[in-house]
Amino acid sequence: MHAGVIAVQGDVAEHAEAVRRAAAAHDTDATVVEIREAGVVPDCDVLLMPGGESTTISRLLHREGIAAEIREHVAAGKPVLATCAGLIVCSRDAKDDRVDALGLVDVSVDRNAFGRQKDSFEAEIAVDELASPFHAVFIRAPLIDDVGEDVEVLATVDDRPVAVRDGPVVATSFHPELTADPRIHDLAFFPAEAVQA
Ligand code: GLN
Repeated sequence: MHAGVIAVQGDVAEHAEAVRRAAAAHDTDATVVEIREAGVVPDCDVLLMPGGESTTISRLLHREGIAAEIREHVAAGKPVLATCAGLIVCSRDAKDDRVDALGLVDVSVDRNAFGRQKDSFEAEIAVDELASPFHAVFIRAPLIDDVGEDVEVLATVDDRPVAVRDGPVVATSFHPELTADPRIHDLAFFPAEAVQA
């Protein structure tokens, strides 16, 4: 499996490690490349959109011509895992003029909404498709405040969606790469055969 991590900002090494772990659980070798320029995405089987600052990530993705390639990747049905700022960038509407949202996940988000209440927090959350709770780390997390008809909500905190699936894209408002548990990467990249342990 050839995985690309958008490397404008964020936990690039941690995501790369989680992909390798998830792939190993399926006896699959993963090669991981960092994406900072156009021309790399077309060779990737799966993509990761890490957290960071969504305004910066959005600006660079459009400026470098990577945004259009990500759209083509999703249109071809290939998997993407978008986390935190990645979710904001992939949303339909980020309600912020500085974020030119890609519209790949039919949700609208309120940037930093969780963060305004509490800057960061951790929670054991139940995730559909996983047999036991996932330890989720939230850092200035976006709030998903509207979910389109075809979006599957995979997890909630206080009745608010924090993990969703829209076709080939899984998006989380938390940071699954910050624990040693690769199950979110697993369910994003091996949707039909995720290891349930
Ligand atoms: N609040 C940040 C943003 O708006 C996202 C935070 C994160 O990725 N941890 O981009």
